Amino acid sequence: MKFNTKAIHGGQKHDPAYGAVMPPIYQTSTYAQTTPGGHKGFEYSRTHNPTRKALEDSFASIENGKFGLAFGSGLAAIDAVIKLLKPGDEVISTNDLYGGTYRLFTKIFEDFGIKFHFIGMENTNNLEQFINKNTKLIWVETPTNPMMNVIDIKSVAKISKEHDLLLAVDNTFATPYLQRPLDLGADIVMHSATKYLGGHSDVVMGALVVKEEKLAERLYFIQNASGAVCGPQDSFLVLRGIKTLHIRMQRHCENGEAIAKYLKNHPKIEKVYWPGFEDHPNHEVAKEQMDGFGGMISFVTKGSDYDKAIKIIENLKIFTLAESLGGVESLAGHPASMTHASIPKEEREKTGVVDSLIRLSVGIEDVDDLIADLEQAIDK
Ligand SMILES: *Cc1c(COP(=O)(O)O)cnc(C)c1O
Repeated sequence: MKFNTKAIHGGQKHDPAYGAVMPPIYQTSTYAQTTPGGHKGFEYSRTHNPTRKALEDSFASIENGKFGLAFGSGLAAIDAVIKLLKPGDEVISTNDLYGGTYRLFTKIFEDFGIKFHFIGMENTNNLEQFINKNTKLIWVETPTNPMMNVIDIKSVAKISKEHDLLLAVDNTFATPYLQRPLDLGADIVMHSATKYLGGHSDVVMGALVVKEEKLAERLYFIQNASGAVCGPQDSFLVLRGIKTLHIRMQRHCENGEAIAKYLKNHPKIEKVYWPGFEDHPNHEVAKEQMDGFGGMISFVTKGSDYDKAIKIIENLKIFTLAESLGGVESLAGHPASMTHASIPKEEREKTGVVDSLIRLSVGIEDVDDLIADLEQAIDK
């Protein structure tokens, strides 16, 4: 089955009770048993829920995995992955990382005796020097947020296999429409389903997908034992979102390309970060491992002026100033004062997050209106 068909039908069965084409929202915490243990596969909704199960099967299908798991948020999904580890274990992670992931690693799990190394992985030659006998996991985010660096998943997977490590990839920005990390050798794919998978800015959710049964069993155990699951209503919404993922992503990519090119040619714009440009430092890798370049773009204005960047964002009318990304509506954000404010200025600027950096999540509106909106805001 090809991707566009999987997005709609992957892992799905019509409901056995009445043939409902969409899985009903099984808003129940528990299930009647005829005798102790005499049930139809569902006992308690932290462990299993039919609506969540339908969604988890869809996750597995679109990522070319075997097992899907849904969580109450993207961070809850990451939390479950790190719980595979023990005190003394070490993790090597990309350094340009979603702020909340960095906070979870450093402010929660370091206190439990897990050690994290944050390194630039655009050049994978750097990686092996950080591997020692305690290393258990490599954590990759690509493209990165907000600098749009691209990391060669296949080449990291090769190193990871040689050293018998687990490789997890946060695939939130790319989505399986553009990039399938399990096919490239990763062991675990993670999503903030809050973003493109849900796609309508109406739900917070996380996902994991794996191929290997033992790993899946351990993660299902953690999901149930730690209990950070999502509810049936949210499961229904994300399942509905996934059914249009392919057509939304197609438009996100088209609009993203048009806007990236418009900004690149604008006399008041200094630099545009988007992996589709031939002069992007990792463009060749992006072309190889992605089927398109997505709708996430960062740019800096000439003169690197904080006030000017803030003015542009405030003057946008169709782009909404907000956290998050991946919805049908276009959003604009200011990483230095929003998502990355907790990182000290010097640290921030080392990775390129300067005060004049603006991040766009390009939506699926008419691109002419989006460009006109940027034009009037930049000209003001
Ligand atoms: C939003 C996001 C997360 C965290 O997901 P939540 O659903 O907000 O918990 C993790 N990684 C990336 C790349 C994200 O954009």
